[in-house]
Amino acid sequence: MREAVFVSDDVVDKKVTADKPVDDVLVTDILSEEDRLLRPQRMNDMIGQREVFSRLQISIRAARKRGETLGHILFDGPPGLGKTTFATCIPRELGVSMQIGNGATLKSPKDVVPYLTNAEEGSVLFIDEIHRMQKSVEEFLYPAMEDFRIDLTLGEGVNARTLNIRLKPFTLIGATTRTGLISAPLRDRFQMREHLDFYNVDELAMIVKRNAVKLNIPIEDEAAYEIAIRSRGTPRLANNRLRWVRDFADAEANGRITLVVAKDALKMQGIDCLGLDGQDRKFLETILRVFGGGPVGIESVAHTMNVTPDTLIDEVEPFILRSELLLRSPRGRCLTEKGYIHLGAKAEYAQRMPLKTFFN
Ligand code: ADP
Repeated sequence: MREAVFVSDDVVDKKVTADKPVDDVLVTDILSEEDRLLRPQRMNDMIGQREVFSRLQISIRAARKRGETLGHILFDGPPGLGKTTFATCIPRELGVSMQIGNGATLKSPKDVVPYLTNAEEGSVLFIDEIHRMQKSVEEFLYPAMEDFRIDLTLGEGVNARTLNIRLKPFTLIGATTRTGLISAPLRDRFQMREHLDFYNVDELAMIVKRNAVKLNIPIEDEAAYEIAIRSRGTPRLANNRLRWVRDFADAEANGRITLVVAKDALKMQGIDCLGLDGQDRKFLETILRVFGGGPVGIESVAHTMNVTPDTLIDEVEPFILRSELLLRSPRGRCLTEKGYIHLGAKAEYAQRMPLKTFFN
C-alpha cells in the first residue's frame, strides 16, 4: 500500500483559497527581459528538432480535436537545447494555463500538493530537473499522473483522517538532463518521451540571424555562421555568444558584426574553433596531462579540476562526446585521436592509443 502523506490543514486551506494558477506570469518572473524576447513563444517559431516538433504537433492537434487532456511528456537532453521552450510553448498551443516547479525544491509530497490541487482542467504542470525530485514525491505522483487523484492524511494521531482528492486532469511535462536517473516506474508514466539532440550549424545560424533581428543588431551572414559553428550545437550558447559579440562590436568596432569582429570577440572569450570554452578544454587537458589520456573515471577528473562530477556529466561532457574528442569505455573516459589532435598533443600520444585497445 502507498504511504500516507501528512499535510497540515493549512496547506489544504491554501489550496481551497488559492487564486487561479499562474501561466505566463511565472515564466516572465524567472527570465530576464532579453531572455524572454529571444525565447520562441510558439512552437512554429522554434527552429530545428523537426522530428520532435512533428510528433508533438500530432499529439497536440489530436488532443485539441478530441477535447482531451494531452498525455504526460518527458523531455531529456543536455542543457540549453529547448526543453523549457517546448514546455512553455505547449500550453500556448493548447490554450491552457501552466504552473512551473523544479524537482530540486520538491523535497516532500506536501511540496507538490498545491501544484496538483491548483491545476486547472487540461492545464500543464512543468517540472524542470525532474530527476532531482525525492523518491517519496515521485511515488506520490504516480496516482496523480495515472488516475488524477491523491491521498492526503490530515492531522495526526487519533484525529487523523484520510482524504482522497480527485484532481482535474492535467498534463505533466518533465524535463531532465539525466534520463538515466529517472526510475522506470516514473518514466513509464509519461506517454511521450522526447530526446532533444544538439542542433546543426545551419539551424544555429538561423537562430543567430533571427535573434540578431530581434535585438536590432546588424550582422553579416558569415559572422552568424561563425557564431553558430562555435556554439556547441546549443541555442542557449548561440544566444549568449551573440550577445557577447554584440557588446564587443559596440565597444571595439562600429556596432556591426562582421566575420572579423565575431572571430576576435570569440577569441577574446577563449572559445576555440569547435566552440569549446576554457572549461571544456581544461577537462580534456586534465585527462591528457594528469591521466595520460585515460582511461580515467569522471570523479577523478572532477576532483582534479575542483568541480562536481555532475557539472562535467551534464554540461561539459555531452558535446565533447558528440564531437568524438572523447569516448566512454567500460574502464573510464579516454581521449580519442581527434581529441589528441584538437589539443595539439604530440604525435606520439596519438600513436599510443589505437582505438581498439579501449574496448579490450
Ligand atoms: P533547456 O530547458 O533545454 O535548458 P531552454 O528551453 O531554456 O533549454 O533554451 C535556452 C534558450 O535557447 C531559450 O531561451 C531560447 O532562446 C533558445 N532556444 C532553445 N530552443 C530553441 C529553438 N528550437 N529555436 C530557437 N531558439 C531556441
